[in-house]
Amino acid sequence: MNMATTVKLYSARWVLPMATAPVEEGAVAIEGARVVGVGTREELAEKFSGAVVEDFGEAAILPGFVNCHTHLELTAMRGFLEREEGDFFAWLRKLTIARTLLMTPEDLYASAAWGAVEALRAGVTCVGDASDSALTTMKALRDVGLRGIVYQEVFGPDAREAREHFEKAGEKLSSLRAGENEWVTLGVSPHAPYTVSRPLLELLTEYAVSERLPLMMHAAESEAEELFMREGAGPFAESYKARGIEWQAPGVSTVEYLAQTGLLRSRPLLAHCVRADEADVATLKEWRARVAHCPKSNAKLGHGRAPFASFIRADLDVGLGSDSVASNNTCDLLEEARFAALLSRAAGDTLEGGRMLSCDEALRASTQGGARALGLERQTGALAAGMAADIAVIGLGGAHQQPVHDPSTALLFASSGRDVLLTVVAGRELYRDGRVEGMDEDELRDRMRDIARRLA
Ligand SMILES: [Zn+2]
Repeated sequence: MNMATTVKLYSARWVLPMATAPVEEGAVAIEGARVVGVGTREELAEKFSGAVVEDFGEAAILPGFVNCHTHLELTAMRGFLEREEGDFFAWLRKLTIARTLLMTPEDLYASAAWGAVEALRAGVTCVGDASDSALTTMKALRDVGLRGIVYQEVFGPDAREAREHFEKAGEKLSSLRAGENEWVTLGVSPHAPYTVSRPLLELLTEYAVSERLPLMMHAAESEAEELFMREGAGPFAESYKARGIEWQAPGVSTVEYLAQTGLLRSRPLLAHCVRADEADVATLKEWRARVAHCPKSNAKLGHGRAPFASFIRADLDVGLGSDSVASNNTCDLLEEARFAALLSRAAGDTLEGGRMLSCDEALRASTQGGARALGLERQTGALAAGMAADIAVIGLGGAHQQPVHDPSTALLFASSGRDVLLTVVAGRELYRDGRVEGMDEDELRDRMRDIARRLA
């Protein structure tokens, strides 16, 4: 085969392609930006004779992790909001003031780039990022080399100003499209039901559907949001009153409200869905809405626990999100998957036949599920010929991991992002031997300390 000179084979004791069963003594063949073969090392070495082979030994090769809900521009706020986290309204307010008044565009860029570096180091190859400054975040993703959708956030709680906010958003979104490339694309995010009025939600839904722009929204996250939706009470309602903004509480759950406004027509990615009962899950299923499950962020802020097992049982497109590191405080999808599984099991949630959530289901949510949640399942999230060469290689030889009876359980219950040896996005080796390619990590680290000093 004359393509042999350009094919590279990564092999390891296990390959977990996610779309198909694990392969022992497996290999992945890549050519350029694509996977061209997955199988046993022997098979592929024969098929691609002459390929450059690299064997990682006691390790697992997986599709890169898909972190389907992040706010990379807020990375500099890691640990900054711990005192406010018991009061979601105060937490959001301090965050918003810091982002809009204290951080310069250069700060937001450095913050997003540092977040992207952290992601690569943890084997994350793709993010779904909600950003107030999408232009900057898109540039950071392009520079670091991560794949992702950046959802430009839109705010506008006052229904009287919906048209005006919508027109401004439309202009911004169309100019942002110039920043798209093959790996980094644009989406839109009406921020949340308590920051965007109903008419603005309707306008943005219409826009997203007609422009084929992916739409993401925070939904059913906090108790404060639930009070606002069901009773028109609580801190969000009080803040509306103080600002002279009218609000007629719909008296239903957030998911039901989003169905009523027509927003679910856009097949949105809904982050959190903590307060979703079985009727809401059925509604999400009916509209084929997608879910970003963010168990650590939800737990840390005291919001509660989303019904992950119900999402899986309903066969929703559900992925995992770290949310911003201001509420996590790390971007580590293996840890997120472990937390999701343990939390579900601790609560006694079950799937068919009364069984607990499985390791494979949690790992799948961190890869293929995330890709589906972002609508990128034809490109990433699984290893198969024709898919993008987005790969994470995770060492399994550590004292905290050996012996390994089963690679899935060793990954989920005994490993973390810190065990990642190599991260490849679109065939490019972006993290290897403890270093992120092409980024000055020392400089970025200094910038983070400098921003933290100024925020304090
Ligand atoms: Zn969020």
